[in-house]
Amino acid sequence: MGPLRLHNTLTKKIEEFVPRDSGKAALYVCGPTVYDSSHLGHMRAAIAFDVLRRYLEWKGFQVMHVQNLTDVDDRIIQRAQNEGVPTDVVTERYIGEYRQALQALNILQPHIEPRASRHIPEMVEMIKALIERGYAYYAEGDVYFDVTKLSAYGKLSGRVLEELKAGARVEPGEFKRHPADFALWKRAKPGEPNWESPWGRGRPGWHIECSAMSLKYLGMGFDIHGGGDDLIFPHHENEIAQSEAYTGREPFARYWIHNAMVMVRGEKMSKSLHNYFAVMDAMRRYPADVIRYTLASVHYRKPIEVDEERFVDAARAVDRLRGAVASADAVIARAKSGIGGPASQHLAGAAQRARETFEAAMDDDLNTAGALAAIFNLVAETNRATDEVAKGQSDAAQLQPGVATARATLKELAGVIGLVLGEAPVDARVAERVRDLAAALRREAGPLFTDHPGQNLDELVSYILAGRERARAKKDFSTADRIRGRLAEAGIVVEDLPTGPRWRVAAADGLRPPTGGADA
Ligand SMILES: [Zn+2]
Repeated sequence: MGPLRLHNTLTKKIEEFVPRDSGKAALYVCGPTVYDSSHLGHMRAAIAFDVLRRYLEWKGFQVMHVQNLTDVDDRIIQRAQNEGVPTDVVTERYIGEYRQALQALNILQPHIEPRASRHIPEMVEMIKALIERGYAYYAEGDVYFDVTKLSAYGKLSGRVLEELKAGARVEPGEFKRHPADFALWKRAKPGEPNWESPWGRGRPGWHIECSAMSLKYLGMGFDIHGGGDDLIFPHHENEIAQSEAYTGREPFARYWIHNAMVMVRGEKMSKSLHNYFAVMDAMRRYPADVIRYTLASVHYRKPIEVDEERFVDAARAVDRLRGAVASADAVIARAKSGIGGPASQHLAGAAQRARETFEAAMDDDLNTAGALAAIFNLVAETNRATDEVAKGQSDAAQLQPGVATARATLKELAGVIGLVLGEAPVDARVAERVRDLAAALRREAGPLFTDHPGQNLDELVSYILAGRERARAKKDFSTADRIRGRLAEAGIVVEDLPTGPRWRVAAADGLRPPTGGADA
């Protein structure tokens, strides 16, 4: 298959990915500033780069993934002061929450998660060298980077210094020579965390944190630097400036990959606009696969508008995918051994085509929408084949090898997108609704439901289905259909197969954003 091609923000072109070291991929992603709970906007970046990492690994690259935790920042200090606690109480809390969110969404843990607070000596070293080389200057306890000393300043964002001069504003207490100069070191203010340095006690600026940590763990000229497109300017522009000035070499990173934002009714999802879905709220309403599918179904460089409809669509899609795997499992369970035949070969061929189409789409700058379309073509082929077995029109043993191949391919390709396709985690509310339904049916249709319903979801659904079978045995099909409809309303999908009814938890459910003000 062909090479991976990625859009490089630095060249504004889609380029073939050629790593610094053959067969390896060194990836640095800007991690969160841990001052508050994560929302879906943060998870879009995490999922976009998780898909990139999984795909690089699927193509055979040995990936080294570094993602920092910004635990030294104005907003953290502000939050700690508001709560009257030390800053590390705030950072530990939100680092814990962030990791929990990543784990819940099946996002691979970075190989290294450096914290800014533990890399102050590396930052001080860089700042010292930048001053010695004439790229930075000391001013009243602060150290600034002099943007006029670097002719290439602005090459990532396309900003021009003249424009920046007109647009920028020097805050009171700053002693910059040029309005676009940025702080490498800030003098300590009372009550703030601070460290010793040649310029007195203080703390690093945000941009130098990422330069110091990426250079330490990945070295100059590493392969991919990623982050949200809101970081292009000034954060990434400044990372490039100080890193290339410090080393006297370029490029700092070979490919700059940026994901677009999550939007709500046309506006960027953000804390300050009160229009966000907190990750944990979303997780209570939807399985991880549905959230991942939602965020992966739109190309990473396009803004994604999230609303309830999009989640419901994603839930249906995930349900179809899981249904295809479940129906394949049923065929495999029925056939003691696989004999194979033309229909089996046809399905195996469809699996191979899906794999090739998937790879071609992903090679094209991670076209996840195209990759998912390839997966769904295989879902349709798998369903067609397994339906014939379920209807008794086709022999399970003759289809078994092809079905097994299709099933493995579905799981593998969906896995590159980070979808697990396991059984739906049982939503407590589904169990609650099924319990209510069992009680209601017992009252309404007594003769069909006499014994005790049981406690857990398995027992409850079995109880309801047993009553439905009694109705069917009496040829009371309207009652049987009504029971199936009410199970569907409760979130349980029932399929009637020649071997008897089979059920699963449907993925679809409703999600509404909080009404705002939750982060006050
Ligand atoms: Zn960064």
